[in-house]
Amino acid sequence: MSEFILQVENLKTYFPIQTGVFQKTTGYVKAVDGITFQVDKGETLALVGESGCGKSTTGRSILRLVEPTAGKILFNGEDLVSLNQEQMRKKRRDLQMVFQDPFASLNPRHTIQRILEEPLLVHQLGNEQERKAKVYELLEVVGLNKDQAKRYPHQFSGGQRQRIGIARALSVNPKLIIADEPVSALDVSIQAQILNLMEDLQEEFSLTYIFISHDLSVVRHIADRVGVMYLGSLVELAEKDEVYEQPLHPYTQALLSAVPEPNPDVKKERIILSGDVPSPANPPSGCKFHTRCKYKMEICENEIPEWAEVGKGHFVACHLHSESSHLGT
Ligand code: SF4
Repeated sequence: MSEFILQVENLKTYFPIQTGVFQKTTGYVKAVDGITFQVDKGETLALVGESGCGKSTTGRSILRLVEPTAGKILFNGEDLVSLNQEQMRKKRRDLQMVFQDPFASLNPRHTIQRILEEPLLVHQLGNEQERKAKVYELLEVVGLNKDQAKRYPHQFSGGQRQRIGIARALSVNPKLIIADEPVSALDVSIQAQILNLMEDLQEEFSLTYIFISHDLSVVRHIADRVGVMYLGSLVELAEKDEVYEQPLHPYTQALLSAVPEPNPDVKKERIILSGDVPSPANPPSGCKFHTRCKYKMEICENEIPEWAEVGKGHFVACHLHSESSHLGT
């Protein structure tokens, strides 16, 4: 039986649109608009989708780096949304984030020693000697060496900087790491090294990952399950192989059709989506994907498709796969 480390229930994160001299709220950008999913201990759940689909805001909302508007975020059964700032600060020892841009996420004026010590100081862990030893250990764990502790971020390559970003996240022994596009700023060969490192660390430290990416080739390498987001909503969620081999949602099918096929004998038809992604401030009625979907039916404009489990652990929100719609009832 699976054991959830994280349960996200009907999470919404809206940002007010303020206009005029009095900054009157005239609407909301619905960055995350009512998503529900669970994460098993020790797994890697990938959240994918185009830029602006809400995947990064979902990660930040879980850590409360942005404040959720509604919903529950149960971490080992405890609702993070109900914690005050001090309680949440302490809780972040268990939930850490690795950011996309290793260049921007490391303070250029601090040595690596100081950068890696900082989370230990914030969480009041260890004395000076112990912190120093921990920094050396972390550098070894991520494939660097202790002599590099005195250097500054600009003295490292992009891949090495991401190793440092991972070491910083690991310093407080977290249980869950949210990695937001952790390899998208890196060359392909370096990407593979970082993904392999993340897999090794997952096993060594019993980590759970939420891996956020727009790149379905990268996700295929690392994910156990994949959730596809569109305009702030989850549209499909399943085991990785099922998503890649039997995608049900038309949006997932379109995304996957753009992924390069490594086998030249396999011919794949590219599905070109018509139109632009609508604004999350004013999303389409009914199914938010209806403005770009070639299978659109009348019901799609008027009724939000329910989030239904159509196979074991395979969830999809589409009227094509909802009993009440395709049976014509
Ligand atoms: Fe397309 Fe309708 Fe399914 Fe939306 S609900 S993805 S518009 S078929």
